[in-house]
Amino acid sequence: MSEMIRIAIQKSGRLSEDSLNLIRECGIQFNNGTGKLKSEAANFPAEFLSLRDDDIPGYVADGVADIGIVGENVLIETHQKVDLVHRLGFSKCRLSLAVPRGDDYRQLTDLHQKRIATSYPRILSNFLQEHKIEADIHEISGSVEIAPSIGLTDAICDIVSSGSTLMSNGLKEVEVIFRSEAVLIAHPNLSPARQQILDKLIFRIKSVQAAKNNKYILLNAPKDAVAQITSILPGMKSPTIVPLAEEGWVSIHSVINENAFWDIIDNLRAAGAQGILVVPIEKMIM
Ligand code: ATP
Ligand code: ZN
Repeated sequence: MSEMIRIAIQKSGRLSEDSLNLIRECGIQFNNGTGKLKSEAANFPAEFLSLRDDDIPGYVADGVADIGIVGENVLIETHQKVDLVHRLGFSKCRLSLAVPRGDDYRQLTDLHQKRIATSYPRILSNFLQEHKIEADIHEISGSVEIAPSIGLTDAICDIVSSGSTLMSNGLKEVEVIFRSEAVLIAHPNLSPARQQILDKLIFRIKSVQAAKNNKYILLNAPKDAVAQITSILPGMKSPTIVPLAEEGWVSIHSVINENAFWDIIDNLRAAGAQGILVVPIEKMIM
């Protein structure tokens, strides 16, 4: 049998959908039947394992899976011997300290000698140590946000995205201690054949990510505006310039970054660009 890579992904939860989408965008087809633990890709040497996210770093460290997708928070907390090989940019969230809304919290030292509930004792204790705060960490596995209201702790440390869970439990966020996103992790000693498959996968992921961060732009401009317009367009190399049927006019094609998008459009219009078209890029091979 030819070499295959085993990829662990979250079975169902906040990482699942984006993990599956990324894999599909990499052109990898597989049949993810509901409740199936294992499934094989049809057109890529890979097999997928659907697991609880907390178990993924351990399985990758043991070599049961070769690579996996997890939140960086879980990667740090589980403290397994795996390599972080690529940041994936989705499932962004923060791990924060929160206290009851009525507390007049001013600074971190206010938590000295306090009780803090969390599912992330390692990340929290590292943070507290770094800031020389001595507090009593209560590890609980779920519903951390209710700990203060039932009198278990004075504060909590939990994942926050919008803050609505904190709000509905009468808490306020006071410190962000860690920012997380989904990451691709790998077993530290992959065989050369599997490493090669991983490299191929990372190459595809980078192309998908680059495409998402960029747009293809086409515009018309009078010839005498070309110099100024090309100076506004960074492009991959230099822009493509094609003459239009109308004398004295050209069409300019380039690639622009999503982040600077509206500024670039405004500058292009000011420089005389007309009929600007912006289209998504499906893949961008770097
Ligand atoms: P499992 O059943 O697999 O153990 P879980 O309940 O522990 O799942 P999820 O809530 O699905 O975990 O979250 C998985 C990961 O998604 C978290 O570890 C974190 O990295 C990220 N995450 C958590 N909450 C949010 C959020 N509100 N927005 C974005 N990402 C989040
Ligand atoms: Zn979990």
